[in-house]
Amino acid sequence: MSDISAEALRARIDQHLIYTLGKDKPHASIYDWRMAVSYTIRDLIVEPWFAATRRTYEAQGKRVYYLSMEFLIGRILEDAMINLGLHDTIAAVLMDEGITLDDVIENEPDAALGNGGLGRLAACFLESMSTLGCPGFGYGIRYEHGLFRQRFEGGQQVETPEDWLNQTHPWEFERPEARYTIPFKGHVGDDGHWHPAETVLARAYDTPVVGWQGEWANTLRLWGAHPTELFDLERFNSGDHTAAAAPEALARTLSRVLYPEDATDSGKELRLKQEFFLTSAALQDILRRFRSEYDDMSLLPDKVAIQMNDTHPAIAGPELIRLLTDEHGLGWDVAKDLAQRCLNYTNHTLLPEALEQWSTWLMGRVLPRHMQIIERIDRDHQAATGCAPEQKIVHQDQVRMGILAFVMASHVNGVSALHTDLMRSTVFAQLHAHYPDRIINQTNGVTPRRWLRLANPGLSAVITDAIGPGWERDLDRLQGLRQYENDPAVIDAVRLAKRANKVAFSNWTARQLGVDIDPDAMFDVQIKRIHEYKRQLLNVFETVARWHAIRTNPDANWTPRVKIFGGKAAPGYFTAKTIIRLINDIAVVINNDPAMRGRLKVVYPANYNVSMAQRLIPAADLSEQISTAGKEASGTGNMKFTMNGALTIGTLDGANVEIRDHVGADNFFLFGMTAAEVQKRYQMPRHARSAILESQQLQDVLQIVAEGHFNANEPGRYHGLVYATWNHDPFLVASDYDSYESSQRDVDAAFADQAQWHQTALRNIAGAGYFSSDRTIRGYMDDIWKAKRLGNDKP
Ligand SMILES: *Cc1c(COP(=O)(O)O)cnc(C)c1O
Repeated sequence: MSDISAEALRARIDQHLIYTLGKDKPHASIYDWRMAVSYTIRDLIVEPWFAATRRTYEAQGKRVYYLSMEFLIGRILEDAMINLGLHDTIAAVLMDEGITLDDVIENEPDAALGNGGLGRLAACFLESMSTLGCPGFGYGIRYEHGLFRQRFEGGQQVETPEDWLNQTHPWEFERPEARYTIPFKGHVGDDGHWHPAETVLARAYDTPVVGWQGEWANTLRLWGAHPTELFDLERFNSGDHTAAAAPEALARTLSRVLYPEDATDSGKELRLKQEFFLTSAALQDILRRFRSEYDDMSLLPDKVAIQMNDTHPAIAGPELIRLLTDEHGLGWDVAKDLAQRCLNYTNHTLLPEALEQWSTWLMGRVLPRHMQIIERIDRDHQAATGCAPEQKIVHQDQVRMGILAFVMASHVNGVSALHTDLMRSTVFAQLHAHYPDRIINQTNGVTPRRWLRLANPGLSAVITDAIGPGWERDLDRLQGLRQYENDPAVIDAVRLAKRANKVAFSNWTARQLGVDIDPDAMFDVQIKRIHEYKRQLLNVFETVARWHAIRTNPDANWTPRVKIFGGKAAPGYFTAKTIIRLINDIAVVINNDPAMRGRLKVVYPANYNVSMAQRLIPAADLSEQISTAGKEASGTGNMKFTMNGALTIGTLDGANVEIRDHVGADNFFLFGMTAAEVQKRYQMPRHARSAILESQQLQDVLQIVAEGHFNANEPGRYHGLVYATWNHDPFLVASDYDSYESSQRDVDAAFADQAQWHQTALRNIAGAGYFSSDRTIRGYMDDIWKAKRLGNDKP
């Protein structure tokens, strides 16, 4: 922990304001203050950062490299201040200047270099690795434009580019010495020598990631793409300005924008090039660092563990073999063996539309040398396993990256117990039979520093009062809260903390959306990417049924609810965008219906991101985790809610299963089919139709939606959606509807007893310790990376 005084901090902030920003205090804007505070905090991280690097060199420790196309970081300043223990001191220093720290914090744009859960997991992992003192690097792409900004126009999603780098990014250091040439295309000669036709330069930009109490910091190294040659001066001087700048434009497109697809595979050439760009730059960097310390290549697997976050960096297998053979002169068998012992693969989804594959034609054109290497890996693979053609890496002219990643990995992990079981029994069943020890489970987690201590200071104080300080690095200690489950004072403190968060959120929606919501109503929250398998539609249908029932019988004893939605749809995902529009359409009708006053509201703030999650999750009473069983690999939003004392209504899917085990079945609203029942249900012809015919309520809902109650000026708007629900319903909304609706009645009844509700909330918080990403990272270190902690040796 930094023990720097308030006076010293004040002096440093002044110094940066004047000499780094060139601003005279009376003229400093909030932006200037943010920059000055950020540089001040960054300076304090540099010391533990250097110390961590020195320590790793001295100990000759194994380093962990986390390769990910996405890092969904969010804001950095507040997290760094919290981890350094300086949040309150900085607030006081700024207060003396008449500046509010919250204004400074909110001036920072989110670093949104990811789509959703997968990218956020990578960010939580980096923070936990630093907290645990695990030497490591995150490798990613420095997208100029992160995930698009979402607006609603007439209820429809409109995307605009995000431009976080438009302002100075005060956290990064450019590393002019770390630059690598990344080859593409061209041809491979008969001697096996690759003659690339295009090259781009990868340049490193480092951001330190500091752990709890500032004891260790690792590096997030993001690669920016630059032209290998400056522009063509001759052409420029001859007046052909556009052509002269063409190589530069071409190179820059590589790190220009994050692909906004989540759980789908777009199969575009630029995406393949981005994946190779990240992977090759990272591997060249890893080998350079290794060679600077060791001569003996056979030590590589003892000093280097590489984690592939999903298949996006799965070209790492062939690329590492290429570098070891073509550039470092090793033979095939040795190179392949070394590569395989360094590499590991995390699978994040079993949805067939998300399993990456590239046509052999495209792979052969963009990466001709790798195509040859892949074919040779495939021959070895077939010889070793005698597998059927469908189990080969290359099948029907497609390179299947999941199989490639599996074959080239030491360990392959799923992200929840259920997901790992399904990996073994479905998509990877044959490979699992050949390599029975390769698939292991590492249930996801989230960092409690950002998702509890930072996001929910009120509840954090209640926890510290009850169980003492230090739980932030040892989250299992939350179990100690169970001894207070019959202590009315503690339960009331939990209630008051929630109530304060709800008031703060109501004030925010009033300011931002001009919508008033009652902090005493139940806040029922579903925030996540909009996807059919996540079943926002199930929630929407229940909302329509509730609206209809309230209209029919307004004086019944309704539990007031605010349905809160948040989330973006991939720009090309038509059904998801239709669901967004439907939510906004029903919101207009419901919120303007006098009969709903004090009973039901629907709010959908646009542009869900990490910062919105931090604001909303602490204010939630009910967490909607309602995906079709077997479809959500883990979920991590579910864990953040539990940690913050929301109760879950959910299916037995992903990590919900383990959350329910840890908080106790009585403290969780379970509904719906199991994964096995889902599989059986799919076998039933016309499963949706028969479910609908058995549910009068669902029939009514579908009729109301189809009749255009929520879209009077375009009555046919939702005909397609309703038709699909009757006839296709690929995620079994209809089949789970009655079970969900009935569970929602239980939720209403439970909320009416506030004392018991908050007791249940306390049990949820107490059971959340397992879902710290510190636990997950310990699992990776012990079971996969075999890496040692070099930081502090606290628990
Ligand atoms: C945690 C998080 C997610 C993942 O949420 P799920 O409910 O697990 O899909 C997505 N986006 C953001 C901004 C998050 O913070």
